[in-house]
Amino acid sequence: MSQDEFQQQLKVAYENERDLVTKQCGDGAKFDSVNNATKTFYQRLDDTIKGASMHVSEGVDCRQGCSYCCYFRVDVSANEVFTLADYVQSTFDKNDLDNLLQKATDNKKKISMLSQAKRVVTNIACPLLDEEGSCTVYEARPSMCRKIHSTDVQACKASYDTPEEANIKNAEHPVLSAITMTMLTAARDGFSAKGMDPEVYDLNEVLIDALEDGKYKKRWLNGKKAFPS
Ligand code: SF4
Repeated sequence: MSQDEFQQQLKVAYENERDLVTKQCGDGAKFDSVNNATKTFYQRLDDTIKGASMHVSEGVDCRQGCSYCCYFRVDVSANEVFTLADYVQSTFDKNDLDNLLQKATDNKKKISMLSQAKRVVTNIACPLLDEEGSCTVYEARPSMCRKIHSTDVQACKASYDTPEEANIKNAEHPVLSAITMTMLTAARDGFSAKGMDPEVYDLNEVLIDALEDGKYKKRWLNGKKAFPS
């Protein structure tokens, strides 16, 4: 396929995805519709990744229990963090929830003491990562966690071992990366076309608010910026 044909396919995929998300999230004011739109988008994203991975000549090196990428900043949109919070509230017991809140509080404190520049070169374990290196919210993990993949686990390890090193190769497959990034952008544009908060947040900074205080969800469903600070 020529580069022009590939770009044309990306354009069509973008428009289809954006329109589907816009249609599925209803008027954007009801959590159930937006939650369902988020979850069905995740399903399409997973299916696309699975299908496209079969055609990637360098195999994808990601394996269960490998968690180097769970120490970097995770960007989330508001719909993703509220879908995640809903999943946690309906599946975690009190003990797990308390542990999660403690880890999230520690992370938030750590991050507040770092500059933006220092933050991107500091490994901080995601509060949703368990001791065995598995994601405790795998079914509801954000799109960025679904999108990230690697064709070379050694590059991930190098990035984890030396996060301040800027010259480590990007081990994502360029075609898979372009397809998934197109889908992520289309979904965000689809939600935003319904007047929903288009902001991208650091998961560590907004998770506690999404879990503990209903006022943020209310703000978001009223078309405001979900997390003003
Ligand atoms: S949400 Fe899950 S997959 Fe994503 S960074 Fe956290 S532990 Fe890893």
